Amino acid sequence: MRVDYRGGGRYAPSPSGDLHIGNLRTALLAWMFARSTGRTFRIRMEDLDRVAAGSAERQLADLAGLGLDWDPPVMWQSRRLANYDNAISELQGRGLTYTCYCTRREILESPSAPHAPAGAYPGTCRHLTSAQERAHLDAGRRPAIRLRSHVTEFTVSDALRGPYTGIVDDFVLRRGDGIPAYNLAVVIDDNAQAVDQVVRGDDLLSSAPRQSYLATTLGLTPPTYAHVPMVLNTERKRLAKRDGAVTLGDLKAVGVGTPQVLSLIANSLNLADPGEVVTAELMLARFIPATLPSEPWVLDPADLLHH
Ligand code: GLU
Repeated sequence: MRVDYRGGGRYAPSPSGDLHIGNLRTALLAWMFARSTGRTFRIRMEDLDRVAAGSAERQLADLAGLGLDWDPPVMWQSRRLANYDNAISELQGRGLTYTCYCTRREILESPSAPHAPAGAYPGTCRHLTSAQERAHLDAGRRPAIRLRSHVTEFTVSDALRGPYTGIVDDFVLRRGDGIPAYNLAVVIDDNAQAVDQVVRGDDLLSSAPRQSYLATTLGLTPPTYAHVPMVLNTERKRLAKRDGAVTLGDLKAVGVGTPQVLSLIANSLNLADPGEVVTAELMLARFIPATLPSEPWVLDPADLLHH
């Protein structure tokens, strides 16, 4: 039974190329989590960076081709720069930001601060003097803006993993090239789209504490999360387009149609028998989060050709 509920779920692809079978599977999961709980389902194009011409349109067509429906309008991050500016200004006004001139290499090579966990920004630029700032600017460096975090870790609630505690460092809000950082945009936009349930690949689990902390800092309610296992190639690395024919377009070209792809995905999620033809609606009707596999789906793209 569906209940009337005002929150929402979402799928937020980066239009840097065509979606592959792993991305499509995550999108189906996000849609099923949202729809099975009476939520709206939103699409957001994370097109601040690395956009490949035409790929956003093809991604939308592929999602629709699988049978997913979403609540319009599609959000485009590239049209929302003022919203990110406003949030950064608010944080600046509250003394919660600082400029950072570190290069990626300097961060990697810098000894960690005594209390900074591995993988955390060590706070090198937290207390720069104006003379030091000027020297960096004179050297032609363009600063990033970082959040001045008041915590070192934060706990989020994940529907599949339970509570998860991870690092919160002074992460970047705006990159040195002026582009708003993913961790900022995602928080502002999930709130703007009334998203209270974030379902995405578990490669992003470690980002959730930073995002949740930032939401809290901005006075927003953090979403609940479900980080779903990824699709891996036979080397147990994240599936990528170079692994073979893994997009709907590639697969169609070698005679594997969308219904077969859907059938494979459904089977991988324990929502269909091997070879059973299903629709997205039927998967939704069968969807129970508790029966999802907790292990990644290891896929040999060559096997797709034999279905
Ligand atoms: N745009 C991100 C990606 O494609 C996903 C962001 C998110 O779901 O929070 O990896």
